Amino acid sequence: IVNIDVLNPINSYDFDVRSRISNYKKQNATLFTLVRDEDLYGILTAIRNVEDRFNKNYHYDWIFANNQEFSNDFKIKVSNLVSGNSKFIKIPNEYWSYPEWIDQLKARKVRAKMKKLKIKYGHLESYRHMCRFNSGFFYRLPELLNYKYYWRVEPDVNFRCDINYDPFKYMNDNNKTYGFTMAPYELHTTVRNLWSTVLNFTSQYPEYVADNNNFEFLTDDNGETFNMCHFWSNFEIADMDFYREEAYSKFFEFIDKSGGFFYERWGDAPIHSMAVSIFLNKDKLHYFDNFGYYHPPNGQCPRSFEERLKRRCDCDGKRDYNWSQISCIPLYFELNGLEKPNGPTKQRL
Ligand code: GDP
Ligand code: MN
Repeated sequence: IVNIDVLNPINSYDFDVRSRISNYKKQNATLFTLVRDEDLYGILTAIRNVEDRFNKNYHYDWIFANNQEFSNDFKIKVSNLVSGNSKFIKIPNEYWSYPEWIDQLKARKVRAKMKKLKIKYGHLESYRHMCRFNSGFFYRLPELLNYKYYWRVEPDVNFRCDINYDPFKYMNDNNKTYGFTMAPYELHTTVRNLWSTVLNFTSQYPEYVADNNNFEFLTDDNGETFNMCHFWSNFEIADMDFYREEAYSKFFEFIDKSGGFFYERWGDAPIHSMAVSIFLNKDKLHYFDNFGYYHPPNGQCPRSFEERLKRRCDCDGKRDYNWSQISCIPLYFELNGLEKPNGPTKQRL
């Protein structure tokens, strides 16, 4: 027999299920997915998850973007599962092509070299356009300009626990800018020159560096080197005004000019992570716990049995990545003075 006490709310945000309230005022927010036609079944799985665990109660809009036209088949099957409005966008060419200062022959040679070295996605041209688009362009799409917050969703992700409150409202009420669920280590072979480029920017524009920032999360030796800690950007809930404002706009332009999207394989995850950790005070960042977020091959799962019951989780607490030895979440907690969750920490996966 399960003690039903564990089913009681723990704070005012939990179990704030809005379907019970007919005139819920939504935030200025949208779900957002970059996807290709061929990822149809992966994205349907993800949509089913987000709807079941969250959006069926809130009906936020969902914007789907693609560098090619979506097929009708894709649009019909996708919008059928989304409980808010679905919008489908073809990305303009200038957001998905080489800027004129890139030497495309040099870029091709880099891809060939990375292919030989078997660096993940190192051989792919499309992956680089994707990372650049996610770093500097998605929030400029006309359809996204209408919104403040976005929640990024990728094909094949799962939410393995109920989300019984509105995370957009949490962001707004608590004045948060960037929300994340996981923080792994980056592959150092993809970002060799990123750190020095970022430091060149901050020494040129010290006025953008926040006083009480999260810089220490990024380095173990006082800024000498990047420690590879970053927020996993396949999940993000964030305020796009941050990207649209001066600091990030200048920052993106600067790193884009350096060519690292094409001459290396810089990911949007370390780029977002460095920007929010340097230009924002650390109280603007938020770790979303207890979503049971899973992006193959790693997932977050509440360590406490009671939390898992209360939130109807279908993940295995023993398989939680966030408190394993290959995660930067423990460092984030330490630097922010957060209380560690119940359950064993720093376990091996
Ligand atoms: P990973 O998460 O780093 O393994 O990379 P993914 O393959 O999941 O790609 C990241 C996101 O970009 C996902 O939402 C993909 O659907 C999307 N994506 C990747 N490449 C392309 C592309 O060439 N075109 C479009 N439209 N979406 C892409
Ligand atoms: Mn992915």
